[in-house]
Amino acid sequence: MVDAHSKPSAAASLIHQIQREITEKPVRYVVNTHFHWDHTQGDHAYRLTGEKVDFIASASTKQLMSDLAVARMKASVGAVPQQIDALRARGSTLRLGCRKSFLRGPDRADGGIPNRAEELHVGVADHHVRQIVLAPRSGVRSAHRFFNGHSHTAGDIFVFCPQQRAIATGDAIHGFLPNIADGFPRVWPGTIDAVGHADFQYLMGGHGPLQTDRTVMTSQRNYIEELTGKVAEGKKAGLSVGEMQKRFTVASLKSLQSNGYAEFLVRTSEQSNAHFGKMLPLQDGVNANIHDVYSNLDRV
Ligand SMILES: [Zn+2]
Repeated sequence: MVDAHSKPSAAASLIHQIQREITEKPVRYVVNTHFHWDHTQGDHAYRLTGEKVDFIASASTKQLMSDLAVARMKASVGAVPQQIDALRARGSTLRLGCRKSFLRGPDRADGGIPNRAEELHVGVADHHVRQIVLAPRSGVRSAHRFFNGHSHTAGDIFVFCPQQRAIATGDAIHGFLPNIADGFPRVWPGTIDAVGHADFQYLMGGHGPLQTDRTVMTSQRNYIEELTGKVAEGKKAGLSVGEMQKRFTVASLKSLQSNGYAEFLVRTSEQSNAHFGKMLPLQDGVNANIHDVYSNLDRV
């Protein structure tokens, strides 16, 4: 299993679905592509099956988990009440039919909002850090290979299955705008280039749809490179983040305007948040990226 959902309850549903629809054999290995909560907090559910399961991550991810995961998890749980209030406020502006299904969302165990704070707390704080196996290159099976390189975080790994010509890429390559808050913007495009040498037909990112060609991967690579170049120039010229956010618009970024990338991102975001009403404009995401590239520009 590559990545483990954001909540043990969601992972538990998936474990049951695997048993029903794919195999009665237990999940033996869980690979955490990186340390972020929405890829790791479900690990606990695999432990609860009582089967022997090894959790695999890179050394950097293990380190980041012990350094940051508990603090990040506490922060994310602490933010939940305000998030629910904000979403309810947003829901109240929807038409009646949409509103009903929107308001049902937060009560679902596998819904988009982590409303079961105690569940999250136990999963990460007590189990995760101790259970990671430091074996990024030992291979789950000989058929699988891992690639390392700084990108979305310091420790992202990629799982490649040559027989299926499929690669799982976590958030280093996915169908949303990249999240650069913990990222390495200058070296990220090179890491994507290195991964691109693998012979895959199917790319499964941490968010967004299955990708059956390399269009989105290439667009994301080019977007990070273009934005990083612009922010580096702006920083050198003494521009503030706010000034750059006004200047580097969705319409002005070539990488967003090529190969339908901007439209793809908007569509994917709408599909992933079907009950949440009108989505925030793409420029908000670009602005967050500009802020994060500015902060992380010199990380290598
Ligand atoms: Zn992430």
